[in-house]
Amino acid sequence: MRTFGCQMNVHDSERLSGLLEDAGYVRAAGDATPDVVVFNTCAVRENADNRLYGNLGQLRPVKSGRPGMQIAVGGCLAQKDRGEIVRRAPWVDVVFGTHNIGSLPALLERARVREQAQVEIAEALEHFPSTLPARRESAYAAWVAISVGCNNTCTFCIVPALRGKEKDRRPGEVLAEVRALVAEGVAEVTLLGQNVNAYGVEFGDRQAFSKLLRACGRVEGLERVRFTSPHPRDFTDDVIEAMAETPAVMPHLHMPLQSGSDAVLRAMRRSYRSDRFLGIVSKVRAAMPEAAITTDIIVGFPGETDADFEETLRVVREARFSQAYTFQYSKRPGTPAATMPGQLPKELVQERYERLVALQDAISWEQNRELVGRRVELLVAEGQGRKDDERHRMSGRAPDNRLVHFAAGEEPPRPGDLATVEVTYGAPHHLVADGAPLAVRRTRAGDAWAARQGAPAARPSVTLGMPAVGRPEPLPAATGCAAPER
Ligand code: SF4
Repeated sequence: MRTFGCQMNVHDSERLSGLLEDAGYVRAAGDATPDVVVFNTCAVRENADNRLYGNLGQLRPVKSGRPGMQIAVGGCLAQKDRGEIVRRAPWVDVVFGTHNIGSLPALLERARVREQAQVEIAEALEHFPSTLPARRESAYAAWVAISVGCNNTCTFCIVPALRGKEKDRRPGEVLAEVRALVAEGVAEVTLLGQNVNAYGVEFGDRQAFSKLLRACGRVEGLERVRFTSPHPRDFTDDVIEAMAETPAVMPHLHMPLQSGSDAVLRAMRRSYRSDRFLGIVSKVRAAMPEAAITTDIIVGFPGETDADFEETLRVVREARFSQAYTFQYSKRPGTPAATMPGQLPKELVQERYERLVALQDAISWEQNRELVGRRVELLVAEGQGRKDDERHRMSGRAPDNRLVHFAAGEEPPRPGDLATVEVTYGAPHHLVADGAPLAVRRTRAGDAWAARQGAPAARPSVTLGMPAVGRPEPLPAATGCAAPER
């Protein structure tokens, strides 16, 4: 399984893996050549199709040398390109879209029996993905989709065209899934939707999302609740109150700004203005002074003037984000913005981008330095890379989602356990705790992680240098709002 793009795709891939395992498939071990390769694609980048066809081209000789091997392509690019995929890469066996991921096992089987490529794209959602089986990558943290699709029409975004109108899942179903996950040992859930603040629009409850947050907070044994992504237009005060009053809901808000210029927001068809955005930020700060606020920003949207860009810098200075995910605007085929006049030269966008990154880095670093000496409880994560191993360190996420590297100590906690550490250094993008944990709370999530060790299915898939399905990426990220790969 090769996954590109946003968390919604990562979560869909967990479902696809679960479906295939239910149908009797098992993961290819180690560096073995698999019998089935599934690409779950993303369409937000201008060169997404080049990447896909490049990857498919690499697989062609592999498939020729392995009779019976099957290649399936799903996700947003498949929804967009449909039959074009088998025209350009006739060695592909199955093409399926964003609305019919549940069909994958049947399509693979049909392609095998008929010895013919199967292309099946549905125009509307067949099953809510969360009703399908899942092969979850993490023992201690899980995504829970509460809605799919989006009713907004942001001019840079392909999501509404490819994922369709918003479909909300009933709160009872969401909570049943959360309880089932907690029973399996999961300590943290991230509620996932393209626009979580619009949740409830389908069943006519404007406060459905805040009620859902509070209900999740009452699930016995659930340590942490996060969500992504909210939309400033639909953000209501009851959500802030629910966050502040529900201890399990973590003090972190990832809210895409996209631009600080009202003119650019208008051109993006984002129906809030910078003063509303800053108003939400100050209400969140008043209710939760310890909260970290992160954002997404697009630099160089068509028609963005120097004055517009200065407005973005102003909002960044005022909002004091703890982190911003900044993107240079790039055309996404099929979106209104791709054909707008005023597309900016690359050098200008690059120069603005560097100024914005420098400003945000300075703000992030200043905030992180202020945290030195603070004690924080971390949800311990699985290995965060070579440096951690070399330095005998581990990593975890603080309640506000900051990444903290800490000394593992004599008796290292397990991923999924909760460790209290004292911050000794603040870097621009992470914190360090040089001492061993001051306290460790062994959790059922840690037990669940330990129980999975040694089970082959728990290991990540072979990546061949391409993104693999992973456990929930703890960095905040939009699921459609900008939705780029990170
Ligand atoms: S950017 Fe976000 S809110 Fe806008 S259309 Fe895309 S998914 Fe919807």
